[in-house]
Amino acid sequence: MARGKDKGLKSTVALVPCSSYDPERVYQALKQGLSLIGGIEKYVCREEKVLLKMNLVREADAERAVTTHPVVVEMLARILAEEHYIDVSAGDSGGFGSSVRSMERLGMREELTKYGCRMAPFDEAVRTEYPQGIHAKEFMLARDVTEADALISVCKMKTHALEHITGAVKNQYGCVQGKHKAAGHTRYPSAESMARMIVDLNLLVRPRLYVMDGIVAMEGNGPTSGDPVPMNVLLLSTDPVALDSVFARLVYLDPEAVPTEVAGAQMGLGTWREDDIDLVTPDGPLSMLSAVKKYGKPDFRVNRKKGKAEGIMNTVTFLRFLKPAPRIDADKCRRCGVCVESCPVEGKALRFSKGRDHPPVYNYRKCIRCFCCQEMCPHKAIYVRGRR
Ligand code: SF4
Ligand code: SF4
Repeated sequence: MARGKDKGLKSTVALVPCSSYDPERVYQALKQGLSLIGGIEKYVCREEKVLLKMNLVREADAERAVTTHPVVVEMLARILAEEHYIDVSAGDSGGFGSSVRSMERLGMREELTKYGCRMAPFDEAVRTEYPQGIHAKEFMLARDVTEADALISVCKMKTHALEHITGAVKNQYGCVQGKHKAAGHTRYPSAESMARMIVDLNLLVRPRLYVMDGIVAMEGNGPTSGDPVPMNVLLLSTDPVALDSVFARLVYLDPEAVPTEVAGAQMGLGTWREDDIDLVTPDGPLSMLSAVKKYGKPDFRVNRKKGKAEGIMNTVTFLRFLKPAPRIDADKCRRCGVCVESCPVEGKALRFSKGRDHPPVYNYRKCIRCFCCQEMCPHKAIYVRGRR
């Protein structure tokens, strides 16, 4: 069974144009993409227990581009059913709420049932040791992940306040069960340390295949409060670093500015280097330059700045104070308290200190800039800005 990138060989990324979530179009595009990388059977056996690991960061309607679009997951389930895969499920562990409820809100129950695909609840944690981890040696994984034989990571093309983008590599953080994700933010508070931990996690759970929903991406205040923007592509690869590097280039972002790209290459998960990537499309091979010209979006709103010495910024309190920080737009805030609940810092770094008639107030001395509050706010009321 082929797995990941073979040493010395180039990584292949399939780019398939697809401009709508019409199920038939997505189905055909996925079939083309899978065939370009050698067919699903090259990576997953029919008898294996397959988990489609989506991005369900939190409950939202499909049009908001917060989650992997349900049609992409449903059409993958359809392809697997047609190929006689016998044990297939789909799910994720979001940061807040139930993943089954998220899938129901996306209207997935009926379609998945039609293709014999179960909804995985990700509701139970299993302590999983990983002694060979370079940065992280233990994870609290969802049982649905530990019991799966083969993961297919079905990620979403989105911006991310901490890691610039969330795509193929970052998607695996949802393998960590529910509230245990918050603990990860306090243990790995900088973008770089978080990225290294996530790369270890990828090396542990080793998805066989990564499929990125970039038909409609999220730009701006991602990963949950940004704006949907059509990018009209599906990307498929066995190398998540290569896949994310194509995403980055399409939005005019230097892969070296992305902590998960840098850590992914350093730790042997994959490559972001253009010379090491074969980009293939239904019309034949394509140079990165041509792909960017044809499918790129120079005005895509994403943070393109490279981080400066973030290790120092995080350890020296004074310097940390200068880092971009979350802020609340009082006009948008509905005082729901989800941000306060999501804050992983002991004693909370934001509270309703002026009462529930006012938005929560930040204590920036305590705040570790993990941006969980910004990620979880259901009303797009939190944004991230520099101190000045
Ligand atoms: S989650 Fe958003 S809307 Fe709710 S209290 Fe916090 S800032 Fe306000
Ligand atoms: S206030 Fe927000 S950014 Fe600061 S530590 Fe809490 S969740 Fe993280």
